[in-house]
Amino acid sequence: MKAIHKFYQKSWQERLAILAQSQLLSDDEIKLFQVNGHQAELFDSLIENYVTDYSLPQGLATNYVIDGHEYLIPMVTEEPSVVAASSNGAGLVKRAGGFQSHITERLMVGQVVLEKVAEPAKLKATILAQEADFLACANEAHPSIVKRGGGARFLEVRILSESEGLLSLDLAVDVQEAMGANMLNTMLEALAQKIRQELGQEVLMAILSNYAVHSLVTVTCEIEPKLLAKGELSGEEVAQKIALASHVAQLDPSRAATHNKGIMNGIDAVVLASGNDWRAIEAGAHAYASRDGQYRGLSQWNYQDGKLHGSLTLPMPVGSVGGSIGVIPLVKTNHQLLQIKDAKQLATVIVAVGLGQNLAALKALVTDGIQKGHMHLQLKTLAVKVGATQSEVTSLVAQMEKAGKRDENSARQLLAQIRESRGN
Ligand code: NDP
Repeated sequence: MKAIHKFYQKSWQERLAILAQSQLLSDDEIKLFQVNGHQAELFDSLIENYVTDYSLPQGLATNYVIDGHEYLIPMVTEEPSVVAASSNGAGLVKRAGGFQSHITERLMVGQVVLEKVAEPAKLKATILAQEADFLACANEAHPSIVKRGGGARFLEVRILSESEGLLSLDLAVDVQEAMGANMLNTMLEALAQKIRQELGQEVLMAILSNYAVHSLVTVTCEIEPKLLAKGELSGEEVAQKIALASHVAQLDPSRAATHNKGIMNGIDAVVLASGNDWRAIEAGAHAYASRDGQYRGLSQWNYQDGKLHGSLTLPMPVGSVGGSIGVIPLVKTNHQLLQIKDAKQLATVIVAVGLGQNLAALKALVTDGIQKGHMHLQLKTLAVKVGATQSEVTSLVAQMEKAGKRDENSARQLLAQIRESRGN
């Protein structure tokens, strides 16, 4: 493969022509890039080296009742069972009265990391004594957020390593309706400049922190056991097993990682549909899961006083403006569908989906096992993979379930049999 120079300076069509010349892709594959470039003009200005649109399925989770409102929640995911499981978990909670949310504050924090600090404790005291000056400097760097009712709120200084002379100045900002990364970064760079000029200190970097512990959102629910009964298992038994599974995720990082992956199945799908930065939410969630030094499950389920109590607390610094939100048309439509009035409400919806998703996964795990619910949807994906047309998928899945087969070879054979019996 020959090196490509200044790919970013080429037009979209020129980039496709370069790819065609490279012979990495066939003409048909290049055509796929071409026909999928539905929003080429917009996306070419959104990222660098754009070649095509990459689309994922979007579904709607139903049954979510949060603080008394019922929502239809857009979810973008390629994993077959996510939307069905989410709606199922939410349906259980709906029958038990719905989810409740709790938010105490919504501030974003960023860091200016100072290096080669000779006397960290002394510098910490000097900075804290000038807190008002530092906050004013941050606000001057982004005055429009102050006009909107937000702005810099407080400073903290942490000595990261006394012996290595590393210190972090943490700035907390009310970013109103935005996620605030760019806003914070502008303010932090202004503070870095002030520190260099007025305190003569070296600054290593200035950047937002995704460990958004001043943007915590808690969602809870309470479920009567009778709603959980499954097959031979009574509701009480299922509730106790869910609580025990939650305890295992507190004890064991191996289980906690999968427990949390299940929560993020729902969260990422809604964060993505809402045009927010899911990498930021993922990073914050996993850092929060390790806050006491051990990686643990993010949710807690307890069986107490005859009810199953679920609770999920997470950093959820999503915006209702900014980033791609005002830019991508489908994102705007999803906000309209969600009928949210502000970023806090969006954050509660997302955390509720995490808890609903988690309930569905834990209930399946401690009763039927995860495969039963997953398999029907996985078989549909397999059917498409082996070339079944839309009208063949249902009968192929039914045949595979009947034959107890889940592998690609069997799928091909059964599809051939279906076609033969239909005479095509
Ligand atoms: P933007 O840079 O798009 O800024 C949002 C802007 O929206 C504000 O600066 C403000 O501009 C305007 N605005 C309009 N109405 C409001 C309102 N009611 N409340 C607040 N602002 C309002 O986005 P963010 O600063 O939120 O940054 C998010 C982006 O940054 C995402 O794309 C993310 O991926 C990216 N990012 C993330 C990083 C990370 O997570 N570590 C690092 C760097 C970037 P004005 O006041 O001037 O009108």
